[in-house]
Amino acid sequence: MALKVMIVDDSLVMRKLVLKSLRAAGIDIDPIEASDGIEALKKLDPKTVQLIISDWNMPRMDGLSFVKKVRGDKKKKHIPIIMLTTEGSMAKFEEALDNGVDDYVTKPFTPDKLKKKVDKVINK
Ligand SMILES: [Mg+2]
Repeated sequence: MALKVMIVDDSLVMRKLVLKSLRAAGIDIDPIEASDGIEALKKLDPKTVQLIISDWNMPRMDGLSFVKKVRGDKKKKHIPIIMLTTEGSMAKFEEALDNGVDDYVTKPFTPDKLKKKVDKVINK
């Protein structure tokens, strides 16, 4: 069965790159896209979404605020979240982990690198 994945990024190009990478890595996906945290919260159905891949820097509601909202909602808090970041800074990663992010991927990434993280958080 296809993996229902929500991809949250303000960049359309980046969303398409994530989709392409997941497919290139051989993952069968059924994607939903959102361009910021507010749109993502509106579209996020906890009964169907199995994984969230979210950007950090976005207008209106950034990735960290979005993660806090998801983790603060008892119906949604079980969904694994992978964060996309431009910097590999450990301080930022620690902050994300403290707020319930399962793992992170620094941009640019390869399909293989993304797949490893997806497998890890899905099988946790
Ligand atoms: Mg962004």
